[in-house]
Amino acid sequence: MTHTVTEHFSEQLGLRARALLHGLGASVPEPGSLLARTPISGGTLLPLTADTPTEVDAAIGRAAVAFQSWRTVPAPVRAALVRRLAQLLVAHQGELAELVTLEAGKIGPEALGEVQEMIDVCEFAIGLSRQLYGVTMPSERPGHRLMETWHPLGVVGVISAFNFPVAVWAWNTAIALVCGDTVVWKPSETTPLTALACHTLLHRAAVDVGADPEVHQLIQGDATVGEALVDDSRVALLSATGSVRMGGVVAPRVAGRFGRCLLELGGNNAAIVAPSADLELAVRGIVFAAAGTAGQRCTTLRRLIVHSSIADRLVEQLAAAYGQLRVGNPLDEGVLVGPLISERAFTSMQKALSRAVDEGGEIICGGERIDLLGPDAYYVRPSVVRMPAQTELVREETFAPILYVLTYDDIDAAIALNNDVPQGLSSSIFTLDQREAERFLAGSDCGIANVNIGTSGAEIGGAFGGEKNTGGGRESGSDSWKAYMRRATNTVNYSTELPLAQGITFG
Ligand code: NAD
Repeated sequence: MTHTVTEHFSEQLGLRARALLHGLGASVPEPGSLLARTPISGGTLLPLTADTPTEVDAAIGRAAVAFQSWRTVPAPVRAALVRRLAQLLVAHQGELAELVTLEAGKIGPEALGEVQEMIDVCEFAIGLSRQLYGVTMPSERPGHRLMETWHPLGVVGVISAFNFPVAVWAWNTAIALVCGDTVVWKPSETTPLTALACHTLLHRAAVDVGADPEVHQLIQGDATVGEALVDDSRVALLSATGSVRMGGVVAPRVAGRFGRCLLELGGNNAAIVAPSADLELAVRGIVFAAAGTAGQRCTTLRRLIVHSSIADRLVEQLAAAYGQLRVGNPLDEGVLVGPLISERAFTSMQKALSRAVDEGGEIICGGERIDLLGPDAYYVRPSVVRMPAQTELVREETFAPILYVLTYDDIDAAIALNNDVPQGLSSSIFTLDQREAERFLAGSDCGIANVNIGTSGAEIGGAFGGEKNTGGGRESGSDSWKAYMRRATNTVNYSTELPLAQGITFG
């Protein structure tokens, strides 16, 4: 594509983004220095204005004020807002998904799946609104009742990453809202338009059901805008999704003001392939987990730990499957791998590949850039690299489609390799041997451990998150809601006596 053709193409994408925003009911923002770009061509979709420190402060203030009344609305009534949001998401699923494709470069089916995940978590939150259970326990004192009750926490700050620009927001917001909290969202500066669309839909949902629209605030900008949320003591919980580097900056600062943090940080996920594995199924699972979303999921499969007896065969089959992957414009049907998000992502992939070779690795396939839609778009072929050992490079998360292949002879050594990285998000094993599968489930130190499926593609019903440098947070399903509420232990005396605990007599 010549330069002018690319520019024209970028202009078309910009017009499409405007049309989608319009269809979603969002007014086109004032132009400013925050550029919404598309990785499809590398061009600018729209220039926006970032929020100033005064505007951020005011947004947090509005959320704090709104909390005072929102907390008193009964949880099942609060759920009406989330129900309406879900209806709007269903009605606008295609438009929002297309905006995700434009801004984050996800292929159509994955972008639609991301919006589906938002709808799913809304449904979960609606049911949850009648199940914010506390427990009662026997009191040691006669005529006393001992119980736990759960209460709204306050303002929840949400910082999100570019690669799940809408689902992570919905995980946090749907649950926080039914729990009685208000939300201030700082999306990735890379995906401001999808954020604007979500904020608009939620605002409209609030108006439709007669809820206070101020329960949700959107603040746009880079890390400095995020830092204002980190340091503000009106923010009771900071839920931050992104790199380990970001978590390392944010966590101590929130802890310093005794705030709560919920961290969802980087992963370095592995799958073990045992000799008994159904290899055909394993190859399909591995290719989706390693090359899907162009290797830009937190749960992307980055390390394959294969039994030495089947390693050559599996690598050969993977190379053949990778050869079939269509890389290209994510708006085109049949494309399986879209662009990398930025030149920086491309550079870090190239650096990692050359380091891998220096460390004795052999590039089996991929890694090369494909010149598709102009000089500012970064399309690459996903890569498989055989490594002699789990080197420092392999232990790092490179946010690009590189799959390192290691071999093992003993299952305990394989589980040890799985665990021997700083991150602890997702893991899996392909085996038909139940003993081996159970040993892996007990031995993996990750927040997610799967059998006969890959590391990515979690459902919203389970708690999502990981251990070690991944941050320890849990979001979405199961009892993750507890992070968004305050627990009180209550003792009620319905007797006429005043016995003290532990049998203490006083006076
Ligand atoms: P990033 O860390 O560069 O940015 C994430 C968000 O943090 C952005 O909104 C950014 O503006 C903000 N931010 C950065 N520094 C900050 C600071 N000092 N204070 C406040 N805010 C700050 O990450 P990214 O490149 O957008 O996303 C990719 C990373 O996110 C990968 O490491 C990936 O594994 C991780 N991720 C994790 C999960 C999970 O659930 N565990 C999900 C998605 C992405």
